[in-house]
Amino acid sequence: MWTNKRDWDHHSSKSLILTFDDGPSSVLVPILDILKKHEVKAMFFWQSRLLHKHRPWKRLLDDDHLIGGHSLRHRDLTRLSHEEQLHDITSNKRHIEQLTGQQMKYFRPPYGQFNEDTLEVLKMLGVTPFLWEVAGLDWEHKESPVHIVHNILNYAEDGSVILLHELKQTVTILDELITDLKAEGYSFELPPL
Ligand SMILES: [Zn+2]
Repeated sequence: MWTNKRDWDHHSSKSLILTFDDGPSSVLVPILDILKKHEVKAMFFWQSRLLHKHRPWKRLLDDDHLIGGHSLRHRDLTRLSHEEQLHDITSNKRHIEQLTGQQMKYFRPPYGQFNEDTLEVLKMLGVTPFLWEVAGLDWEHKESPVHIVHNILNYAEDGSVILLHELKQTVTILDELITDLKAEGYSFELPPL
């Protein structure tokens, strides 16, 4: 289980992991452009139902970001049977691996909801559950996205995993967010491949 600084052995004294859920979406390209401008690597947790082959997944790999799984269609896994969870996560893994040609190593359960069955399935598949420590609450701040920046600046600390989404309002503040975090001395890392 990967949640916060206790779980990873990072290199710098002030490191963060940036993660983007619920893609691939139509704002993936501007997100990648901003990350590239700042030379920041991030993790993307993708749903199978959104995996259209025209999304620029190849650029994401070329830019050295990481793709993890986020289920078939974002159902709360704790409401599914063991068999249904097995089907959901296995299919999501297969879809991502077929698209990218790379092994899917990390999975984030929708809504952060999981149970013993989820953990057992992930263990069997050799996939690490990846949660978060600081939620940007970007889905709540469509009207005033500056709050996303404040949330993260207030709660981030060394080792935090930051939760964001592939949303329009997130694009509008991403450049400022990264600039501010860097100004506070943070650097950005990825978990081991
Ligand atoms: Zn999600």
